[in-house]
Amino acid sequence: MAARTVTSLAPLPPGADVVVIGAGIMGLSIAYELARLPGKRSIVVLDEGYLCGGASGRNGGGIRAQWSDALSVSLMQESLREFKAFARRHRINTWYREGGYLFLARNAARRSELEKSVAVQREAGLKTRLLEPQEITEIVPELDPTGVEVASYNPHDAVVFPWPFVWGYAEGAIQHGATVHTFVRARSIETQNGVVTGVATSRGVIQTGTVVLAAGAWSPELARTAGVTLPTHPHRHEICATEPLKPWLTPLVADLTDGLYFSQSTRGEIVGGIANARVPEGPTQGSSARFLALYARALTARCPRLGAVRVLRQWAGLYDISPDQRPIVGRVSSVAGLYLTSGFVGHGFMMAPVIAKRLSRLIARDETSDELEAWSLTRFQTGRLLDGGMIIG
Ligand SMILES: Cc1cc2nc3c(=O)[nH]c(=O)nc-3n(C[C@H](O)[C@H](O)[C@H](O)COP(=O)(O)OP(=O)(O)OC[C@H]3O[C@@H](n4cnc5c(N)ncnc54)[C@H](O)[C@@H]3O)c2cc1C
Repeated sequence: MAARTVTSLAPLPPGADVVVIGAGIMGLSIAYELARLPGKRSIVVLDEGYLCGGASGRNGGGIRAQWSDALSVSLMQESLREFKAFARRHRINTWYREGGYLFLARNAARRSELEKSVAVQREAGLKTRLLEPQEITEIVPELDPTGVEVASYNPHDAVVFPWPFVWGYAEGAIQHGATVHTFVRARSIETQNGVVTGVATSRGVIQTGTVVLAAGAWSPELARTAGVTLPTHPHRHEICATEPLKPWLTPLVADLTDGLYFSQSTRGEIVGGIANARVPEGPTQGSSARFLALYARALTARCPRLGAVRVLRQWAGLYDISPDQRPIVGRVSSVAGLYLTSGFVGHGFMMAPVIAKRLSRLIARDETSDELEAWSLTRFQTGRLLDGGMIIG
């Protein structure tokens, strides 16, 4: 009988209809959506570690519809509705806080990016507003607007606590018949004549005709075992949380020029990070003092009063970076039965609920969507890379 909880002890089945590699937000939400679709199919999710050990348990929980392209805006409008409904649907507290996102532009290029993006967003029905520097302090009086050329603000963007979504999707998938095995490493994706036949794991082979590769920043090495080159690479992204303060900061503030971002959690901590090009190569999740210095300098320049606040914790996770900073999702044309969900940079958490719906319908019903068409792996073969605006970090 299938285990009724996340398990590291239950034996692996010899075969399954679908094997999902990676129990982050992507793998679990896909397993959940697939398990809910009509039709009986056995679904096994594998993770080499524990739930929340990857980027899905280490991120800032920012979820927003402010994007530069119509496709991402509409995906995120749908996703925000999913995030909002999640607590009731999964009977779990998600600490959903609708404080908005305030983007800052401090040079002409970023100004133009914001102006164009706001036009796209308003066309899609968002309430985003462009703000002059003096208007910024009406939203966050503690911000120093010096050097800011323009800002954009959508009051309906939000911040959540990521862990309940991972747990909720895991529980939901299991309730619908999937099994979730932790501490099982997928070693290779087995193929024969360009068709998926199984997954070799640290505890034996599972035969299957369908594999969803949802191993986040670790995906390229597994894709290689099936003869597929994924053009993504891991990039360490550090983040930290301060001691809790009385609530005072409503939106998540993001500076498009240096990649600084910070928000206040429901527990009062200021949680934030910054873009940092100088990090070690490879899938390294360690922390550095250099990050703290970089972040503190940028944060206190933007918000001088935060200079007196103490940092309590810092940690790091992996961004999964694609060449055009846009996702790579859908089937792999050269390997029948292999599906990807990669390249989400610092934004995969917010997109997962909708990506999971799209990908599960592709797997179960061969139903495609605008996202799957636009974000397929083939764009790197045809050279049709996408515009990568409104990226933080
Ligand atoms: C510090 C930080 C802040 C971020 N902030 C935000 C944010 O505010 N908003 C947002 O939307 N996104 C944010 N992101 C990005 C977001 O967290 C990721 O895009 C998203 O979590 C990716 O989910 P995933 O399931 O693809 O990957 P992961 O959560 O990394 O899951 C992949 C899983 O695969 C497992 N795995 C790897 N190799 C194997 C193997 N061989 N066998 C079995 N299992 C394996 C890993 O153990 C891991 O659990 C942030 C990321 C970081 C690091």
